[in-house]
Amino acid sequence: MPRSKGRTGRPYRTLREQLRNSPAGRVCWICGHGIDLRLPARHPLSWSLDHVVPLDRGGDELNPANARAAHYGCNSRKGNRMSVVRPKTSRAW
Ligand SMILES: [Zn+2]
Repeated sequence: MPRSKGRTGRPYRTLREQLRNSPAGRVCWICGHGIDLRLPARHPLSWSLDHVVPLDRGGDELNPANARAAHYGCNSRKGNRMSVVRPKTSRAW
């Protein structure tokens, strides 16, 4: 999924830190299970930041209300499903 903007700035990192350090950041909002913060990145059960409203649908990546903690695996499964649903070609509505 191409995402060319945003993700590397300081506000985004700060938001990640705050979420990781909050109680809500210890539970995956997709499957409801706890997240082990010590697991290495890319591990299916490792911590990742997910967005309630996907960024390519107008979600605000820097709004804490739009940020949720999720397992890396749960997050990418959800992302895959969305990319299947999203039409690849534009068409008149
Ligand atoms: Zn999960």
